[in-house]
Amino acid sequence: MHIVAIDGPAGSGKSSVSKAVARKLGFGYLDTGAAYRALTWFVHTQAIALSSIDEKFLTKDFDYQISLDPDDYWVRVGTTDVTYEIRESSIGEKVSAVSGLPLIRQYMLKLTHDLVLTSGFEGVVVEGRDITTVVFPSAQTRILLTAAEEVRLRRRSAELPEGISIAEQITKRDQNDAKVVDFLSPAQGVELVDSTELDFDSTVEAIIRIIERTK
Ligand code: C5P
Repeated sequence: MHIVAIDGPAGSGKSSVSKAVARKLGFGYLDTGAAYRALTWFVHTQAIALSSIDEKFLTKDFDYQISLDPDDYWVRVGTTDVTYEIRESSIGEKVSAVSGLPLIRQYMLKLTHDLVLTSGFEGVVVEGRDITTVVFPSAQTRILLTAAEEVRLRRRSAELPEGISIAEQITKRDQNDAKVVDFLSPAQGVELVDSTELDFDSTVEAIIRIIERTK
């Protein structure tokens, strides 16, 4: 199986670029941030204290499912479809507190491995914050997708109805997340793609060229 690991900060275009790359190559696409968001949603709707989260809660009570089909993306917790709800800014505000807990990161690592290895695709584009360094350090293709901060802020505020205040919230989230995982500089062997001056299609092409080269 060809694993394409893509890390990067918010607003680098990670999700939409990864999805487009997967579509072009007939690969699966895995958004790993969705699991942290879905867990944050679950914990808050059930009013569960973060301090009470243990292995049993994660493996038994948190029934998480995600589609790896880039043309049919959905996220479920139990029987509830949470695809759109987990993107809300109220979740964005709370997610770093959840993703900063080592027990949760350990569980997510195993969950990500399982989802990819049982996906049935010949290749999977996996994107997140720690995918090239911690989750799949020996993936065939490892890319850090980044862009200058002002460009990332502009892209995010154009995407979000709440505008620039949300973009600022995202910058704060990146700063919090960076205390746990360094996703701002490429680790050894990781290719850097800077999309500051690239439009969407050129970014997709740049990544596909790297994948072809690492096949
Ligand atoms: O990528 P997205 O913005 O959906 O990720 C939401 C949050 O999940 C991040 O801000 C980060 O706290 C956490 N995350 C992580 N490791 C990943 C993916 C996401 O810690 N691989």
